[in-house]
Amino acid sequence: MNVLEEAKKLFQNCDELPREAVILNPEVRDMCESNTCGQYGRNWACPPALAPLDEIKEKFDKFSNFIMLSQIYELEDSMDFEGMTEGIKDFQERLVKLNKELKGSGTPYLILGAGGCSLCAKCTYPEQPCRRPDDMIISLEAYGIEVIKVMKDNGLKYNNGPNTMTYMGGVLY
Ligand code: SF4
Repeated sequence: MNVLEEAKKLFQNCDELPREAVILNPEVRDMCESNTCGQYGRNWACPPALAPLDEIKEKFDKFSNFIMLSQIYELEDSMDFEGMTEGIKDFQERLVKLNKELKGSGTPYLILGAGGCSLCAKCTYPEQPCRRPDDMIISLEAYGIEVIKVMKDNGLKYNNGPNTMTYMGGVLY
């Protein structure tokens, strides 16, 4: 299965980047503790529930290719939180669809998302195990990836103008 072709069916922008562009920075992981998104300690896909970065690096090192995925959403204005919420929901649904397409393809891959996992109305963390560990998608930031820097360093647009929100994800394979 051609991962890039599958990704292109679901995302506006699919950019193949050098694998070395994916750098795990402990400072980015540490930023999760400030809990600006409200998911820290509330989601199996967010710290502190995640493996340490050295374990994650070992996992990442098994892959040789990386595609940055992004999707632009129109907002009514800069305070359109409903539009932002709908956008992230749509983006995460696209990632789940890509996961479904790639599953069973025989190609080892790992999808990297945006934000905490929102597959369930309420995450079971920490009382019960994750309901869908095979579908759960961990965000680029929770993996310690400085997304804006990766985009900038590789000439990709992360700001697509006023009243838009761009969500980013990725796939290693
Ligand atoms: S699948 Fe459900 S239980 Fe698992 S991390 Fe996502 S929201 Fe939480």
